[in-house]
Amino acid sequence: MASDNSTKIVLGESELPAQWYNIQADLPRPLPPVIHPGTGQPIGPADLAPLFPIELIKQEVSAERWIDIPEPVLDIYRLWRPTPLVRARRLEAQLQTPARIYYKYEGVSPVGSHKPNTAVAQAYYNKAEGIKRLATETGAGQWGSALSMACRFFDLECVVYMVKVSYHQKPYRRALMETYGATVHASPTTLTNAGRRILEGDPNSPGSLGIAISEAVEVAAMNADTHYSLGSVLNHVLMHQTVVGLEAKKQMEIAGDYPDVVIACCGGGSNLGGISYPFLADKLTGQRPGLRVVAVEPAACPTLTKGKYLYDFGDTGQMTPLVKMYTLGHTFIPAGIHAGGLRYHGDSPSVSLLHDEGIIEAVAYHQNPVFAAALEFAGAEGIVPAPESAHAIKAAIDEAICCRESGERRVILFNLSGHGYFDMTAYDAYLAGKLQDYELPGEEIEKALAGLPAVG
Ligand SMILES: *Cc1c(COP(=O)(O)O)cnc(C)c1O
Repeated sequence: MASDNSTKIVLGESELPAQWYNIQADLPRPLPPVIHPGTGQPIGPADLAPLFPIELIKQEVSAERWIDIPEPVLDIYRLWRPTPLVRARRLEAQLQTPARIYYKYEGVSPVGSHKPNTAVAQAYYNKAEGIKRLATETGAGQWGSALSMACRFFDLECVVYMVKVSYHQKPYRRALMETYGATVHASPTTLTNAGRRILEGDPNSPGSLGIAISEAVEVAAMNADTHYSLGSVLNHVLMHQTVVGLEAKKQMEIAGDYPDVVIACCGGGSNLGGISYPFLADKLTGQRPGLRVVAVEPAACPTLTKGKYLYDFGDTGQMTPLVKMYTLGHTFIPAGIHAGGLRYHGDSPSVSLLHDEGIIEAVAYHQNPVFAAALEFAGAEGIVPAPESAHAIKAAIDEAICCRESGERRVILFNLSGHGYFDMTAYDAYLAGKLQDYELPGEEIEKALAGLPAVG
């Protein structure tokens, strides 16, 4: 047991989880099938084989509750895992709240976020299948950095389509990817049909994750030695991220606490699924009926709070299968907010189903209050959070203020999914008073959703 005044709860390497948790075993109903846009029928493994290794395709549809983590993946996890769980005592004091606030810190990974938890696994399975190169997209550059590192570890080539607005906002993220040996392009490019089509319509397109995905998928589909790799959304990605929540569960136990609410920012849902699913298992199996899980998103890209639960393409170029998810429409191009990792039109199918069932909640915040929360957190705990993670901090602070007003001693756990030391341009803009808040007009959502394909 940790003494009552401990701050960091640290596990030994031997306590690293040996298996990932697959929430598909415990969902209240099965995930809707993924649909082939041409035939209108559910897709099978053969449809996905040009893009993913068979082991990941199996994981994508598996209903096994536990899946073993391969030893070579664990060996790399040990470079930074288990990550610390921190009781934010100084933030509690600053907020004068009776709540107990804990955060799981994923910024200690070599690239500064939770993303390597799946990047390493994906690179491993692709290498094992004899693939030579991985193509991917990246928004803020976090995913691209993680996959570049993982590819380097497993001796794979890596080509990254980076959303153009981020490419210019975050030159050091690009340099980091190149340091690991990756090739990085500002998307949309003239290198793919998907990119050229976008540039014909709008030569000044700032890009979007949906466009960059189309480019990377096209490159993978056209080259037999190349596969595609996605940093969020897919079932296997969220499953790989459950090492975060599995560790946090052990650490909370050591602290002698159990969360009343688990909070994470939500772009595609991978850090949210990662931290919350091992706890949600207790809710889904009836042991913790009162547990709350909160997804936090930007008001400029309010997928869960303002989107619709419909079948949509995962990309702008309509190359991916159709997935039932909360979506703002695949043609949606979000404003150039600084939380680049949260600018995706869709969401993970399992997060979407859980939200549709009312099992998890969602809130949206504007970026100025989010940065204010980031500064409040940095002032108390020292770490400068990634702008994405700062969304979770904002929600955690609001919960803690609620407790101050009601006198409740709630236990709040949030995921600090990454640090913000490559995001100082964003902090600079905030400090100079230059950040704008973008409300997404309802008509724009209606317009983007009107273009959705009809399924079923
Ligand atoms: C990519 C990223 C996110 C958003 O992606 P999710 O799949 O929703 O987790 C959040 N935080 C950080 C630090 C990221 O790099």
